[in-house]
Amino acid sequence: MAFLSAALDRVKPSATIAVTDKARALKAAGRNVIGLGAGEPDFDTPANIKLAAIHAIEAGKTKYTDVGGIPELKEAIINKFSRENGLTYKPNQIIVGTGGKQVLYNALMATINPGDEVIIPAPYWVSYPEMVALAGGESVPVVCPASTGFKLRPEDLEKAITPKTKWVILCSPSNPTGSAYTRSELKAITDVLVKHPHVWVMTDDMYEHLVYDDFVFTTAAQVEPSLYDRTLTVNGVSKAYCMTGWRIGYAGGPAQLIKAMATIQSQSTSNPSSIAQWASVEALNGPQDFIAANNKVFKERRDLVVSMLNQASGIECPRPEGAFYVYPSCAGTIGKTAPSGKVIDNDEAFVTELLESEGVAVVQGSAFGLGPAFRISYATRTSDLEDACKRIQRFCGNLR
Ligand code: PLP
Repeated sequence: MAFLSAALDRVKPSATIAVTDKARALKAAGRNVIGLGAGEPDFDTPANIKLAAIHAIEAGKTKYTDVGGIPELKEAIINKFSRENGLTYKPNQIIVGTGGKQVLYNALMATINPGDEVIIPAPYWVSYPEMVALAGGESVPVVCPASTGFKLRPEDLEKAITPKTKWVILCSPSNPTGSAYTRSELKAITDVLVKHPHVWVMTDDMYEHLVYDDFVFTTAAQVEPSLYDRTLTVNGVSKAYCMTGWRIGYAGGPAQLIKAMATIQSQSTSNPSSIAQWASVEALNGPQDFIAANNKVFKERRDLVVSMLNQASGIECPRPEGAFYVYPSCAGTIGKTAPSGKVIDNDEAFVTELLESEGVAVVQGSAFGLGPAFRISYATRTSDLEDACKRIQRFCGNLR
């Protein structure tokens, strides 16, 4: 339809949201469905954070704020970056947006010119290539298979860089695979980037706190300080603080880039919710001990899911370092026939048939740029996870 913008031809709706919607519709129709598609913790926002929001409402902190965030939140973010990442920023190097998603989007909108290339390790978070396309750029996916731990190898990065490369996006721990770079793995990547001064680094650290088995999180500008002047370090409260609905994300980076992002935000959405900003001040400054308690549960669930999936015929599930996702291969099921008579010819057929026959909703790997595989979010009640994994075992066992 000519009425709609040509930019829409360049983007796809989110596959993860599509699966969640389909599962919800089946549930509404009375089916017993377990949704393992959504990327959000099942835990509630901690009480002290909720109280801070209530106090903000009662104190009348309900007006427009500075576009890029209230000074108190910027200060809390500066302290967080210093305390946890060894990174030093001034207030004019910090921006707060409506979720990490808006921060990433604004950064791309503020910097991409037609033909600019953005290197995106695959499998990737579904929104990166779509945002790049909306901004008029070209995404350059670099396949990172299970055999490399789903991690970008320095030599593959080197090959992907061209004079047109503007950004490389790093996401660790990763959505959708849960894999995370050790300091030395990250250093090998930053060593390549040091040689290419025109390439900027966007690190999506949304899952920073969700790491298991004593894994130590690091971020690019920390590992290679010489990249500081061309790195945007993105983070947010959504995942670690169980605040997905509050919509607060933030970034630290060069002042000129932050200013450009704020200009875009000022003409689109203005400040993020004042109330959610005050809640986030409490999230970052308040007690952090619930994160370790939640992680204990996440780790147990990860181990349960990995072990049960590896007992399903045709499935191979690596054990990731972090986030709340696993990314098993379903290569061993391709070409087989389900009891319904349907042939599993790719991972989309696998997840569709799994949902229809067993009522388990997962997302196909092809949506994240690497299949045949699927993503499971284990941010779900442990009893449901166990039930879902049993259903997956039965589903795979019934394929012929
Ligand atoms: N980056 C990654 C890798 C994510 O998985 C998500 C959320 O799913 C986001 C960014 C966006 O987070 P937010 O909910 O704060 O917008």
